[in-house]
Amino acid sequence: MLYDAAVIGAGPAGITAALYLVRSGVSVALVENGAPGGQILSTAEIENYPGFPKSIKGWELADLFDAHLAGYPVARVRGQVTAVRRTEGHAFTLELAEGEALEAKCVVVCSGAHHRRLGAPGENDFSGRGVSYCAVCDGNFYRGRDVVVVGGGNSALEEALYLSRIVNKVYLVHRRDAFRGAMVYQNKVRQAENIELVTGSVVDEIRGGSAGMDSVIVRHLESGNVRTIAAEGIFIYVGMEPLSGYLPEQVNRDAAGFVMTDAEMSTSVPGIFAAGDVRSKRCRQVSSAVGDGATAATAASSYLEQWNA
Ligand code: NAP
Repeated sequence: MLYDAAVIGAGPAGITAALYLVRSGVSVALVENGAPGGQILSTAEIENYPGFPKSIKGWELADLFDAHLAGYPVARVRGQVTAVRRTEGHAFTLELAEGEALEAKCVVVCSGAHHRRLGAPGENDFSGRGVSYCAVCDGNFYRGRDVVVVGGGNSALEEALYLSRIVNKVYLVHRRDAFRGAMVYQNKVRQAENIELVTGSVVDEIRGGSAGMDSVIVRHLESGNVRTIAAEGIFIYVGMEPLSGYLPEQVNRDAAGFVMTDAEMSTSVPGIFAAGDVRSKRCRQVSSAVGDGATAATAASSYLEQWNA
């Protein structure tokens, strides 16, 4: 079947794009690799999405987004897109890892981004045995223990706060003295009694044995002093990498691989639109992802009108 639109990714951007497209009367396939929700599934509390003044848990918001789409005739396709190719008649073929494929007249790319690795010795060796990129998923394993969080952005600050309510102590290691994350989180982190700030410092190594990691070697950049922090877990939040490698090379990307779009979310390839965290932009929020998804769907609807004219 040739769908009017294929949306790749069921995070806030993808769910919004699918909702707007199906409501405009076109046929939509929403391709999702995991559970719907995207990154909000690994976010404990969302405090800045309007309409939830008391904050909402990430998985609850994901459920609500999904429930909103449930009443509409969107084809939900489970799979990982490995390639997007333009085919005859100017449609697109989406190849799936499972060997299947689907065709659509236009594509809205909402595949998001995932957490970047630190690249420190020991990071791969202790992955899943102390090294984690998701406090909400793994934090409970460290109840009453000591952990390290690495990074200075919103993710690191938020997750350090989340962990501080579960574990004995959080060491927040950041390479600069100033944090990049929002002031509201900076203030809370500074006030938390069991968060120690280890600033101007980098992780040199993660060490441990057969039972898992047991310590983190941290170096102060200015003095060169090296410190061993005894910790059974390390949560790494040093930025995001886009999930855009499966797109055709004609889709322009920035140096980090994020997809370039215009204000209408059109990419350099007519018929391919992008929305949410996969896009090259400054603001990465649930609210901006939702806005991107609505804008991309509107542009895709206009594209389909020209196609069908
Ligand atoms: P981010 O804002 O890019 O911050 C990454 C942090 O990691 C920075 O503090 C950076 O240090 C540090 N870093 C980068 N590479 C490093 C390395 N090799 N070694 C040590 N430290 C390194 O990433 P994020 O916190 O994952 O957030 C991603 C996006 O999502 C942001 O736009 C963020 O605002 C958004 N977000 C928003 C919320 C919210 O509003 N509630 C929550 C989570 C994420 P420097 O500061 O020195 O560069």
